[in-house]
Formats: sequence, structure tokens, C-alpha cells
Amino acid sequence: MADSDSELRRDVAMANRIVERFKLATAFGHASARVPGTNHFYISTRRSPGLADENDLLLIDTDGTVLAGNGRPNSEFWIHARIYAARPEVNGIVHAHPLACVALTQIGEPHRVVHNQGGVFVDGVPEYKDIGLIRSRELGDRVAESLGGGVAVMMRGHGITTAFTNLRAATVAACFLEESADLQMRMLAAAGGNTAKIRTFTREEAELARDQTGPGVAAAGRAWEYYAAVAATKSIGG
Ligand SMILES: [Zn+2]
Repeated sequence: MADSDSELRRDVAMANRIVERFKLATAFGHASARVPGTNHFYISTRRSPGLADENDLLLIDTDGTVLAGNGRPNSEFWIHARIYAARPEVNGIVHAHPLACVALTQIGEPHRVVHNQGGVFVDGVPEYKDIGLIRSRELGDRVAESLGGGVAVMMRGHGITTAFTNLRAATVAACFLEESADLQMRMLAAAGGNTAKIRTFTREEAELARDQTGPGVAAAGRAWEYYAAVAATKSIGG
């Protein structure tokens, strides 16, 4: 885990590139990490997350003040600022626009745990129902309220936000959530839209899956290692 400022910045840049390389976002999306023990966080500048650079990050506080860095912040930085304000234990946040998650929200289906990597979402993924970008402190607060004490929120017709005690886990969780939503969409299609045919994990099954494969366990280090290795070799837009 990142234990120095330079490592933290490298993780922020890599998390952003993972978000783009794994098609959770194209031109729009962003990952951030809190500077431990502060109300400041590093976030990419206002460009595709696929172009994030560890030497070109912004340092912003939870009131939205840019403390350091060059360039403009992403217009939805308020998502990050207000979740960090509401959740002192959260140190990493990913906001992206992955297609299967968006599709799930627009057919009114809640997220279901349908495979092992979905186990981390055993407590459900709440929905932020309003469409539109989160470009104000007030809207950031509303997203934070929707997230509550959870690890992820679906944003209708828009995307997702994940929040964890560290950025690597938030990034892995974002990838897992899209994988899970994509599987759920395939299952719905194969079942002719009949949700009763989907063998959703029971709570006990989902908890077992979470404890074995979730982003919060050591095994997930392999997931970050993999995503980072692929992101390092894959071309942007590839
Ligand atoms: Zn967005």
C-alpha cells in the first residue's frame, strides 16, 4: 500500500489509467486518494483519466479549494470532496461511467450478487436517482448521503462511485462492480428478462465470496497488480 507521498501520487495516476484502460470511463471519470490524516486529496486534472500523470495532479480540500497543482479540476470533483468530508475513514474514491452499470440503472434493476467478485456488494448498492453531473457542493453532499456508510453507489443514467479505506480497493471494487453488472445484464438477457431465473447469491454465500475475494482482503492485491500491469502496457483507448 502507498506509504509515501510519491507512492500515493503514483497510485492516483495508475488508478485513473486503470479506469480508462478497463473501459469504466473514456474521456470522463476520475480517481482520487486522500492524503492520510488530512482533509486534502489528490485527483487528476480535467482530462481523460487515461491521460493521468502522477506529476500533474491537483491537491484539493473537502471545501473544494485547490491547494496545489496546475490546471483545472474535473467538474465533478465535488463527489470526492464531500464523500471525504462525510466519511473520515475513506481514503480512496473512484467515479466512472461504466456501461453495464448505467444500463442496469436504466432498466430499474437493483444490483444483485451473481458471482464471487460481486460479494463485496453484499449489503446492496444504493442508487442516486437524479440525473446530471455533480457540479456543486450541495449535489456532492447528496451523493455522499446516497452512499451512506456503503462502498458503492449507482448513479442513474450516469455511472458509479466507489469509496474504500484505500484507493487500490476502490479501484478494484469499481472493476468488480462493472464486471458484476455486465454479468447480471447477460443473465437477464439469457433469462428473457425474468429476474426470478437469476440465482442471486444468498447473504451467506455473498459474505463468503466477499471474505474470499473482496477488495478488502489480501487476495485483492493480485487484482490491483493485474489491472496495473495491463494498464501499464495497454494503449489509451485500446
Ligand atoms: Zn460523472
